[in-house]
Amino acid sequence: MRFTDYSFEFNQEPIHFSVTSHSDKDLVSFNWTGLRTEKFIGEFRTARSGTLHPTLRDSFCGKETKEKPTFRIWNRPRWDYERMYCGRSASPRKQCLKFRHTPTVLPILLINPKRKKQTDQNAARDGGLNDLYVWQSENRKGAEVFELLDGPPYANGEAHTGHAINKILKDFVVKSRIGLGYRVRFRPGWDCHGLPIELKIGKQQGTTKQRSPLEIRNAARVIADEAIGKQMNAFRRWGVTADWKHPYVTKSPEFVAAQLDVFARLVEQKLVYRSFKPVYWSPSSNTALAESELEYNEKHQSTSVYFRFKMINFSSSDVTWTSDSSSKLSQFYALVWTTTPWTLPLNNAICISPTVKYAIIQFENDVNNPTSSYYIIASNLVKEFETSTEKKCRVVGTVDSENLISKRYRSCWHNELALPIYEATHVSDTAGTGLVHTAFAHGLQDYDVALTKKERVQSFVDSRGCYTRHFGHSLDGKSVLGDGQNEALRLLNHDIVHTSQYVHSYPYDWRTKKPVIIRSSEQWFIDVDEIGQRAAAMLDDILVTAGDSDLRGSLKQLVKTRKSWCISRQRAWGTPIPGLVDEKGNSYTSRKLIEWIAQLIRERGSTDVWWEIDTQYILDNEDVRESLNIPTDVLSKLTKNMDIMDVWLDSGLAWYAAKLDDDERNHIADIVLEGVDQFRGWFQSLLLTSIAAQNKLPYKRIMVHGFCIDEKNNKMSKSIGNVVDPTMLTDGSLKQKAIGADGLRFWVAQSGSENAGESKIGPIIIEDVDKKIIALRNGFRFMIGGCQGFHGNQIESSLKSLDLDMLQNCDNFVKTSIGNYEEFKFRTVANDLTQFMQRNFSANYVKYVRDRLYCDRIGSESHLSAQFTLHRLAHNLAHTISPLLPHLSAEVLHHLPGFHEKLILRQKLSDLHSGILNDDPNCPKLMGLISEIRSKLEASAGPKVDTSKKGIVIRVSAEQDNFLKNYIPELPELLNVSEVQLEVDKESLSVQLVDSSLRYCERCRKYNRHPDDKMCGRCSAAMSI
Ligand SMILES: [Zn+2]
Repeated sequence: MRFTDYSFEFNQEPIHFSVTSHSDKDLVSFNWTGLRTEKFIGEFRTARSGTLHPTLRDSFCGKETKEKPTFRIWNRPRWDYERMYCGRSASPRKQCLKFRHTPTVLPILLINPKRKKQTDQNAARDGGLNDLYVWQSENRKGAEVFELLDGPPYANGEAHTGHAINKILKDFVVKSRIGLGYRVRFRPGWDCHGLPIELKIGKQQGTTKQRSPLEIRNAARVIADEAIGKQMNAFRRWGVTADWKHPYVTKSPEFVAAQLDVFARLVEQKLVYRSFKPVYWSPSSNTALAESELEYNEKHQSTSVYFRFKMINFSSSDVTWTSDSSSKLSQFYALVWTTTPWTLPLNNAICISPTVKYAIIQFENDVNNPTSSYYIIASNLVKEFETSTEKKCRVVGTVDSENLISKRYRSCWHNELALPIYEATHVSDTAGTGLVHTAFAHGLQDYDVALTKKERVQSFVDSRGCYTRHFGHSLDGKSVLGDGQNEALRLLNHDIVHTSQYVHSYPYDWRTKKPVIIRSSEQWFIDVDEIGQRAAAMLDDILVTAGDSDLRGSLKQLVKTRKSWCISRQRAWGTPIPGLVDEKGNSYTSRKLIEWIAQLIRERGSTDVWWEIDTQYILDNEDVRESLNIPTDVLSKLTKNMDIMDVWLDSGLAWYAAKLDDDERNHIADIVLEGVDQFRGWFQSLLLTSIAAQNKLPYKRIMVHGFCIDEKNNKMSKSIGNVVDPTMLTDGSLKQKAIGADGLRFWVAQSGSENAGESKIGPIIIEDVDKKIIALRNGFRFMIGGCQGFHGNQIESSLKSLDLDMLQNCDNFVKTSIGNYEEFKFRTVANDLTQFMQRNFSANYVKYVRDRLYCDRIGSESHLSAQFTLHRLAHNLAHTISPLLPHLSAEVLHHLPGFHEKLILRQKLSDLHSGILNDDPNCPKLMGLISEIRSKLEASAGPKVDTSKKGIVIRVSAEQDNFLKNYIPELPELLNVSEVQLEVDKESLSVQLVDSSLRYCERCRKYNRHPDDKMCGRCSAAMSI
């Protein structure tokens, strides 16, 4: 170890400075006393001579301190980052004091992963990330408005990777549109009402039934607020730019009141009605469900049953016999097939089709029985019946469907009842028996049959999914999906022809993950039949995309086939459906009533109004009472409707309720961006309500993204334990290195953007993202290090060809990226960036410019050309990628010397320019030729030879020789060699590696020194000051 002490004066104060050379560790420590600084950006040479380099002086705006800060730089006559960059070990050089050291800014690579959060927060502050939204809405008043309508996440639980994909993609849109010069409107939203929160309250404190609706609502509010706070913090941590001061939350009085205003319009248009009809019903959560709340379980197992109903007024004469009819007493049965055998006691009718041919069959086993049993079944299904039941059958005759239609059969449960056989269009002979068991209250088509035949529909299954007392003691209160069904099958055993287990796709409640049933109940509906048709036609005018694929067809198909939308739920945590109901179930509502309730909510600032007021209070309002048209005889028997609205009707009205004023409401959202599952959800509910209420589309474009899975293609699931917590990714944990907000964002850009497929995440992928981010940081680190001491202004001298080529490539990258931002192609921008840094910058620039940057005289034209290039590169690249990687951009701009815009996205991306002065038109031609020579050189030198220590002879055509002669001084640099000789050759271009005719220069380590000189020409010039 060797110590050298230096002293010099700074601001008339003596500074003591010692250098320690560690012979064993290949480094030099600088021990500084008297002044404290956080970053060391000085030059050793100037320190030795007792004066401070201007940049160094600026950074020492010194506070007195007693500490003795220690600085470490690599003991090598090159800049410290070079070693880090190349990964090569530097050889210890004792004579280092002869040479110039310029350590680069340290924080950019040497960030402690544990401090990642702080670094990101500093970057956000320095880059003006936190004020970006407010800045652009205040400073872009005249600019074109671009609105992204936020599909609100559910206000329950922590932020997860699904949120990360969604919110970060939205942020790419917001930031890139700001970069393109728009004034962006993006108000973040939260969906607050609904079952999951209500169920959570139940779990916390016994069952919800013990609490009054108002108590439930208060507890639910607390849960929602807590989740909103947590999620908002996470979204902001990811660097998401939004109107955080004015989020829309669907539980707020403003939102609910606005929602009721639109609902009132729908009521006035007579689109809302109350009816007793079959809906999907979840016994596990005690409420009706919309189709969008169903999840299909492909592996659901049902009990499938072939069942017989005894025909009443059907005899041998109705049959066309193909074999001799026996003289025995005969009994005829209608054979049905069902996978919901719990509905058998509820059977109301059997449906057949006039186009299906029916056969009369007999089971071989029964032939010798004293009574002949004959079964009616579709002719085409006899074979299938035989296969699935393993019963041998004999076809003995046929029967015309017309003969069947007028006939009756005996109810299996109520012996005294004779039930009808109807014809219906939904019956076919492709599955089952061609005779369809029909229970009016428990099937959508069954219900239609009841309507056509003017049959009464009654439900004998209660809201818990249990049989009511109408079915007697044996079934009363038993679950239709459990013991009730088993008991029913036991009691009906006599008429069961065959049972088996049947695996098929079956709807489940998406929240509770339990099977649902179809059950008729009094519900509120919106008639969307005609609206859906209109909506499908209007969708032709907009784009529905995921990457390059057009998904408009799927949405069109979904809205076209939707008939009615069940909007009521039998819960407390939601927006009320203001209306009165009489004893018979007739309902009374009006635009006036609903608007009055909305007004009360606004006045009182509470959404609980509907639960607080009583029926009489409503009737006392004369205006409202008149609008309801209530017959006088029921006036005293009215109750408030206590159903709440389907949550899809909350967020579905965001096109109106999430906006602040009419001006905003008149602007159709330019884009909505959600996961593919929203085709069944939000995309539809926005569309249908907007078309119903204002006959306008709610958005101009739909963009779709996929979901997150692990590296083994498994869904994220708590039970598998593969859930990735985004906070762990950004801030690190014991097991996981912190990749920062930009690491997460880079992952989203690469795997979540431009497709609706699955985005994988797991240790290998995270490692890969981290590597890519570090490579980017290193690239920027080189740029920043290289332009230390540079003022950042335009230079007057002309650029070297290498620099010119680099800047032209950079300009192209910027231009292409702007195009990609316009098309929302964020993955392409991210991939282009990685490519650009690897190929254009590292491989084709850094390798060649290093020598000039390290060894040419500071302030010389050639050195300035390199510094100018690095400065413009860092500046323009940082701004261009700021929509994707805002923290990295802000860090780069913060550390980049000179006076330039250090806040991100305050200028339009299209205003970025490289400031090329001497646009040499021959540059592309030169670089084309150079790249040809480089590849020949690489091929002849092989990977082990350091060409910078060699000379080369290039044999070229006369024309090429003439051309290259103009660039002779630049050729050694462009080819990274010590010396270049040109020779004219008629053959094709060739390269020969030779020993340089010159001597070794110790400073720049090239063979370019005249034997008589101590150093090469430019090294002497550099050291002479
Ligand atoms: Zn030299």
